[in-house]
Amino acid sequence: MPKVAVLPGDGIGPEVVAQAVRVLREATDGIEFEEALVGGAAYDAVGTPLPAETLDLCRKSDAILLGAVGGPKWDSLEPALRPEVGALLPLRSELNLYANLRPAKVFSALIDTSPVKFGPSGPIDLIVVRELTGGIYFGRPRERSPDGEKAIDTCVYTRTEIRRIAQRGFEIARQRDRRLTVVDKANVLETSRLWREVVAEVARDYEDVELDFMLVDNCAMQLVRDSGQFDVILTENMFGDILSDEAAQVTGSLGMLPSTSLSDSKGTSAFGMYEPAHGSAPDIAGQAVANPLATILSASMMLRYSLEMSAEADRVESAVESALLHGVRSRDLGGTATTADVADAVIRHLRS
Ligand code: NAD
Repeated sequence: MPKVAVLPGDGIGPEVVAQAVRVLREATDGIEFEEALVGGAAYDAVGTPLPAETLDLCRKSDAILLGAVGGPKWDSLEPALRPEVGALLPLRSELNLYANLRPAKVFSALIDTSPVKFGPSGPIDLIVVRELTGGIYFGRPRERSPDGEKAIDTCVYTRTEIRRIAQRGFEIARQRDRRLTVVDKANVLETSRLWREVVAEVARDYEDVELDFMLVDNCAMQLVRDSGQFDVILTENMFGDILSDEAAQVTGSLGMLPSTSLSDSKGTSAFGMYEPAHGSAPDIAGQAVANPLATILSASMMLRYSLEMSAEADRVESAVESALLHGVRSRDLGGTATTADVADAVIRHLRS
């Protein structure tokens, strides 16, 4: 039986994770869940945002379901004890979670919530595959000159880092519409030119996937002009950080967006940490109004990418679509359904 480490975290994290676990229990024949502390909740209980037992549990599991961490209560702690820095970054680096996947899709029932009018290719339905552990956020030197007049950040990529994320991008394109757009700044950056070289080599093993390259400034424009043209966007760390947020906003609702960070694959599945794209939303925590769908859709990605349960993932996604078509709306979508009401509606559609 697959084992999932459940890390509810802070703010609305425990509220939305509890509902995603209900949906997973309903949609599958059996998953073993074990819960552990993370974030501010862990700091309050044991003095560290990422206890050793939590990391151990993650290592022994097939996947992690995370709510969110952080909140004003812990903002004034020293950086290493703050939930975001002291829990999320070490989880990513200790577990080698180098591939960040952020789908951006607008459900047909919610098209009116998008702030942009969709272009000739129709509504947005894409996935951003972002390299998460290299590039300018990690390169050395990174420093300020002694007189404070100059600062340096360094963008570094190796062939190995590019090859493994490129393979992941092609594999994901194969599970979708088989179109991959590599986004870079190859007219200026040497790292981008290396990306193009390595991606072109990897592409020889994926001739069934249509490949094109786009400069990042053009991609930023195209996401607003005609976001429906993209299937899979593959890009480096900083460009992916920015473009995945832009794509998220095009869908119009933060409470709907799932994400995962994956490590190396074992056969057709990979170990991954699954979490909603939103944070701990302290402003609405404890009010039972959080939208659980981003976490439910993250759980469905977990079924697909880590637990080899694609059919169950399809069923969860269809149940979400049906629940929305039948009108269930949490407060962020203009409705009055509580967090549990939304999950109840999804479960009802799973059963029907
Ligand atoms: P946020 O995503 O928590 O909230 C932004 C806004 O969106 C808020 O108004 C919130 O009420 C709303 N919102 C978010 N999720 C929602 C949901 N599921 N349903 C309905 N409304 C929702 O971002 P923030 O306010 O910038 O950050 C709050 C805290 O979360 C901070 O401490 C931040 O560091 C942390 N954070 C954590 C993660 C993570 O754990 N991966 C990610 C981002 C932010």
